[in-house]
Amino acid sequence: MNIFKPKKNFSLKAYNTFGIDQVAENFISVNNLDELRKVLADYADESLFVLGGGSNLLLTRDVPGLTLHIGLKGKEIVDADYTKNHVLIKAMAGEVWHEFVLWTLENGLGGLENLSLIPGNVGAAPIQNIGAYGVELKDTFERCEAMEIKTGLVRAFSKTDCQFDYRHSIFKTKLKNKYIITAVYFKLTKQNHQLKTEYGTIQAELAQQGVKNQAPSTISKAVISIRQQKLPDPKIIGNSGSFFKNPVIEKALFQSLTDKYPEMPFYEAGDLIKIPAAWLIEQAGYKGKRFGDAGVHDKQALVLVNHGNAKGQDILSLSEKIQQSVFEKFGIQLTPEVNIYP
Ligand code: FAD
Ligand code: NAP
Repeated sequence: MNIFKPKKNFSLKAYNTFGIDQVAENFISVNNLDELRKVLADYADESLFVLGGGSNLLLTRDVPGLTLHIGLKGKEIVDADYTKNHVLIKAMAGEVWHEFVLWTLENGLGGLENLSLIPGNVGAAPIQNIGAYGVELKDTFERCEAMEIKTGLVRAFSKTDCQFDYRHSIFKTKLKNKYIITAVYFKLTKQNHQLKTEYGTIQAELAQQGVKNQAPSTISKAVISIRQQKLPDPKIIGNSGSFFKNPVIEKALFQSLTDKYPEMPFYEAGDLIKIPAAWLIEQAGYKGKRFGDAGVHDKQALVLVNHGNAKGQDILSLSEKIQQSVFEKFGIQLTPEVNIYP
């Protein structure tokens, strides 16, 4: 018998930052591990859709079966003397990422400052190894705990187990739909913080703010300010951040493209070259464009937006049109970063 009464035909509009109005056949939010285990057992025969903050998601149809919102809360310093210079922190999957980052800063800890103001919850952060301003989750990640959907058993995953890469982890491939991340552990600095300010406009922002003594908290403030100026606030205009990954291309293709487009921005990425997808989309003529209520943000072309009542299919069609135009112009295939359901 199901002890957790699901909300039936429940609108997910407020549960995804694109603001797409699709409906969950059954919706349950769980607050502790026992509830999670019980619900997984009760709904073992139903299709399962796991939801965090809904900020990396495009719903293109209603969700049958069970939509399971992970509401596990709690954060603590597990070991204040993990090493001479580090503490070990544990955060439960349902903690709001940015609130968690601010809490680490209030405790004088360093490591997560460049990842300030990223929407979503802690549990989804390892899924795509969230990254911004030259820092990725993997840089401070120690381990995570995850419940196997089939058995309800909780297992620990080390950094190596997670196979982190650029916007990627094993939870997007081999272990997709097999585990629910329940908690994440971070190794953060107490002092001698390793500040990273060379990326993007952080230095310029710090100078503008008149910051003389750089610290994790001042870097965080700079990052927040830059993001607020450039990125659309999902509370005001629906979006899921960068819709596509930045492509990394072979040097031969890069050479032929720079011959034709000498102004093309690029960054070395090992043996490959990373090209900002936003530049490609802008060159293809889409920056600020609007097709009904589906559009491309006017300050950051990598962000697709919902101007009001766009359907997931409208956003998806626009994304496919962009992919086709970019491919025709540059021979580069853009890959979505956003999780498209189904
Ligand atoms: P959701 O969208 O709820 O879920 C994402 C995926 O993970 C889904 O497939 C879901 O099924 C799965 N999932 C969720 N929780 C769990 C769990 N506990 N266990 C297993 N699977 C789970 N991302 C960056 O990397 N860097 C950025 O700088 C950045 N900036 C953004 C800016 C804006 C304005 C927005 C809207 C998004 C941005 N993002 C960024 C994308 C997004 O915020 C992150 O990917 C975030 O980690 C998603 O968290 P979420 O809880 O909202 O995940
Ligand atoms: P930006 O600073 O305008 O830079 C454009 C792109 O160039 C970025 O995507 C970044 O790639 C790359 N880049 C810039 N400086 C770089 C450097 N020194 N070395 C290597 N690559 C560099 O980007 P933005 O749109 O304002 O975003 C700022 C940061 O926040 C970026 O790291 C971006 O990834 C992150 N962000 C992510 C999302 C998301 O949803 N995933 C949304 C908003 C912002 P990378 O993306 O590889 O860093």
